[in-house]
Amino acid sequence: MSLIRDQAVVLGRLDYSETSQVIVLLTREHGKVRAIAKGIKRGTKQRFAAAIDLLELGSVVLSARQDRPHTLANITEWKQTRSLLGLREKLHRLHAGQYVAEITAALTEDWDPHAVMYDALVHALVVLGDADTPLPAVTAYQQKLLDEIGSWPRFDACVLCGRMDELTHFSSFEGGMICRHCEPTHIEKREVGPITRAMLIDISTTNDPTPAFDLLDYHISHLMGRAPKLSEALLTKTQRGHVR
Ligand SMILES: [Zn+2]
Repeated sequence: MSLIRDQAVVLGRLDYSETSQVIVLLTREHGKVRAIAKGIKRGTKQRFAAAIDLLELGSVVLSARQDRPHTLANITEWKQTRSLLGLREKLHRLHAGQYVAEITAALTEDWDPHAVMYDALVHALVVLGDADTPLPAVTAYQQKLLDEIGSWPRFDACVLCGRMDELTHFSSFEGGMICRHCEPTHIEKREVGPITRAMLIDISTTNDPTPAFDLLDYHISHLMGRAPKLSEALLTKTQRGHVR
C-alpha cells in the first residue's frame, strides 16, 4: 500500500455497505480513482469532517495498491478545499454540474491522468456556480473533454472523402462531418446546419450554444453507449435535433 496525496473532484457516489460508500474521484495527477470511504455515512470517524458530497472539491489522501490498479483504493483523509455552494442554489446549475461529472466519469479510464481536463472541470464547476445559463460552460467543457480523450470530431471537411463543401451530416461513428454525397450510405448520422458547424469550428463565438451542446451530447452519447442521464434536464425536446 502506498499513500497518494492529490486534489480531487467528487464525480459520483454509490452505497457499498451499511456504513461505506464508493466515491468516484477525478484527481488532478492520478486521473479517475474509485475509492472506499469507510464509515463515512455515519460520520463517526473523526478524520472525515462530514460526508463527502457530489461535486465537492477537496484534497485527498488515498491508500492504494498501485501494483493492483483494479482494486479499490481507500480514502484515508478528505478535506474540502473549495465550497461551490452556488451550484446548489439553482436546479439548472446542479443539473449542469451533475452532467459534466457524469460524462467525465463515463469517458475516462481509472488511473489515467488528465491534468488539463481536471483544471477544465474545476473551471466549469466554478463558472456554473454563478451562471444564469449553464450551457456555455457545459459546452466549453464538452469540447475540452473530447479533445483530451482524443475524440474531438472533425468539422471542417468530410471525414470520408475530404471535400470541404456540402457538409450536411455528422456521424459519431465516423468521427466528424460527412458530405451530401457520402451520407446516403450511412445509417448513423444526424443533420447539421451551417450555424452549428461554424460554432463548432470556432467554439469561442458567443452565439447561443444550444445546437453545439446538442450535437456534442449526441456524440458523447455514442461514445458512452447511452445518453447521459442529465441530458434531458439541460435540453428540452423541442431544442433537441433542431437543425441550425
Ligand atoms: Zn464525403
